[in-house]
Amino acid sequence: MPGKISNWGNYPVVEATLSSFSREEDVVPFIGKMGIPITLRGSGLSYGDASLGSTMLSTLQYNQILNFDSNAGIIYVQAGVTLDALLKHIVPHGWFLPVTPGTKFITVGGAVAGDVHGKNHHSEGSFCDHVIELQVLLPDGRIVLCSRENNYELFNLVSGGLGLGAFILTALFRLKRVDTAYINQQNIIIKDLGDMLEQLQSFNNATYSVAWIDCLAKGKHLGRGVLMLGEHVQKDKLPGKFKEPLRIHRGQRLNTPFYFPSFVLNSFTMRLFNQVFFYKHRLARKDFVVHYDPYFYPLDFIRNWNKMYSRKGFLQYQFVLPFDQAEKGLEVILSKISRSGLASFLAVLKVLGKGNHTLSFPMPGFTLALDFPVSSGIFKLLDELDKLVIEYGGRIYLVKDARMHADVYWGGYPNAQHFKSKINALDPEHVFASLLSKRLKMI
Ligand SMILES: Cc1cc2nc3c(=O)[nH]c(=O)nc-3n(C[C@H](O)[C@H](O)[C@H](O)COP(=O)(O)OP(=O)(O)OC[C@H]3O[C@@H](n4cnc5c(N)ncnc54)[C@H](O)[C@@H]3O)c2cc1C
Repeated sequence: MPGKISNWGNYPVVEATLSSFSREEDVVPFIGKMGIPITLRGSGLSYGDASLGSTMLSTLQYNQILNFDSNAGIIYVQAGVTLDALLKHIVPHGWFLPVTPGTKFITVGGAVAGDVHGKNHHSEGSFCDHVIELQVLLPDGRIVLCSRENNYELFNLVSGGLGLGAFILTALFRLKRVDTAYINQQNIIIKDLGDMLEQLQSFNNATYSVAWIDCLAKGKHLGRGVLMLGEHVQKDKLPGKFKEPLRIHRGQRLNTPFYFPSFVLNSFTMRLFNQVFFYKHRLARKDFVVHYDPYFYPLDFIRNWNKMYSRKGFLQYQFVLPFDQAEKGLEVILSKISRSGLASFLAVLKVLGKGNHTLSFPMPGFTLALDFPVSSGIFKLLDELDKLVIEYGGRIYLVKDARMHADVYWGGYPNAQHFKSKINALDPEHVFASLLSKRLKMI
């Protein structure tokens, strides 16, 4: 039965049928019976329309851990397993995810198809850099393996390929050895943009780094914020009050039971939030030990926090600018946002290294992610910001996008034509497609 479906940003909302399966032997006959195009979907945490279409196939019930070598730290899973389930399985054995985004509820299929990055891209790359082998279903019904050694071109297209060309069924990937489930967090208060970029780069040897920016600060305070560094804590350095060194995370403790009215998040409340956040961190402890859950996933604490943005939803806007253009570009972009009065609740800045796959988002530079409530003025503002991003040599993150125009994608991704011709050769009838791929004329 068709129903209304949206991803995490609750924008756009589409009328669609959503099917699911749980056994590998059911996939091929199942797909044969579905109308095309089929849009592949994990947890739908991609904010915009990367996993939306009118006929969608969910992997959430195809979610078994098939093998875990707890000596070597290599795991073999079905695509629908979530990072949340993986952490519960691996942390007690002293292993952690090599790369994790800011929520643990995504699937491994979504992590590969988005080639997601975490707070350690500068030091440890993106998720696909740790994948050893993928098993994928091709549009003609063949199931094949691909890796760096075997079918490399396919591996490179599918890693970060946004569910186009092939359906990822299973993934074999490497985990990261940890002594404890805890992180040593160091907070550094930053006074302005120049200071922020300098400090982020000077801590390039930190395993994890991320900064929050007060995107409403103006003038000499433009770019002020808090830089948060993190290192895994060794067992002998763990304070005695943490009795269980390899404790897994607990369930979500708070819930947003209903959509907030749209007036709740206005420029006044956001300004207030940003100021309180800044001064709270200024006064708080600067060096402390924290469990991995609040360090990596602070927003997961509140179930359905996206409902705070009202039924109209919100847009996540993430772009990257190359190092040599970043200071000027960020100054222009942040000033424009600050002047527009269209505030972002959270603005997160990170350092990225090189992207290694055909459509990978990362490039050596700084990436900024902002959340904007859907409003009448926001689309015009973001169109203007897109132009600046392209002018300063950057690009927009596809897996979070819901609204950019095709020329912005084509202007930001130098491999767009290569991707299109290879995917069209692999999938001439466009068995796999999404609203995103159509809007951006990707295939
Ligand atoms: C709070 C929050 C914080 C986030 N933080 C970060 C971050 O720090 N870094 C980052 O990189 N991202 C981040 N994201 C984005 C998120 O990690 C990605 O969008 C991820 O791809 C979502 O995975 P999913 O399982 O929800 O997949 P979906 O959103 O359902 O799908 C994402 C893409 O993967 C494709 N896909 C899904 N499964 C398969 C499959 N089995 N085979 C082929 N294609 C498939 C879909 O077609 C779609 O193109 C964040 C999202 C949220 C909500």
